[in-house]
Amino acid sequence: MERILLSRLQHYLFCPRQFALIELEDIWEENQLTALGQVMHERVNQPSHETRGTIRTVRALQLASETLGIDGIADVVEYHRQPDGSQRPYPVEYKRGKPKSHRADEVQLCAQALCLEEMNGCAVPEGALFYGETRRRQVIVFDDELRKLTHETILGCRAIVESGLTPKAHYQSHTCRQCSLRELCHPRRFSHSAQDWLKIQLGSDAEGSSESSGKTNAKNMTRSTVESKEDSP
Ligand code: SF4
Repeated sequence: MERILLSRLQHYLFCPRQFALIELEDIWEENQLTALGQVMHERVNQPSHETRGTIRTVRALQLASETLGIDGIADVVEYHRQPDGSQRPYPVEYKRGKPKSHRADEVQLCAQALCLEEMNGCAVPEGALFYGETRRRQVIVFDDELRKLTHETILGCRAIVESGLTPKAHYQSHTCRQCSLRELCHPRRFSHSAQDWLKIQLGSDAEGSSESSGKTNAKNMTRSTVESKEDSP
């Protein structure tokens, strides 16, 4: 089974095409927001652990689920000592910015919880997202709805990886405006078939251009290495 990186799940929820461009076509474009997220993760992704009171804090913990075929690195996992002496994992993921309108961050955190449940053999009922802009933790409960969405996201990612096909662009002005890949994705162009795009181009510019021939393929666009802890968008 193809492994899916935990950090890639957020891209699928933001836009399946963005996930495919990164996963299948190795395309990544850093912008100010993604760079800030990278700096934040570099700060918290130094492996270490410490114990204070009843909480043991482990940073940069490697996680995996054989059952789900996912793996990656958790920014922080706190182990909370319970009254019976057992330790309950509590994942904490660091994000730049503030809580978002979509559930991508929650799904990434829930996927970490699913890994921790499999690795530790115990329930992980909740965790937290820490946002750099608000400097606050937001507690996330891993309820049935969020677990279902997380499973569906993993399946969606795997379907794209196994098909090897990048979905067509579905232009949504609000989402595409925020997307770090919009200059490489050309969402208006690739939401049409090549023939439709040619007709549009010929209609507005009879001379056309080499770029308007529909031959521009995402695989030919600029490529750069994707870090393992990238932030959406
Ligand atoms: S520009 Fe729009 S369609 Fe293209 S990857 Fe980004 S969000 Fe998706």
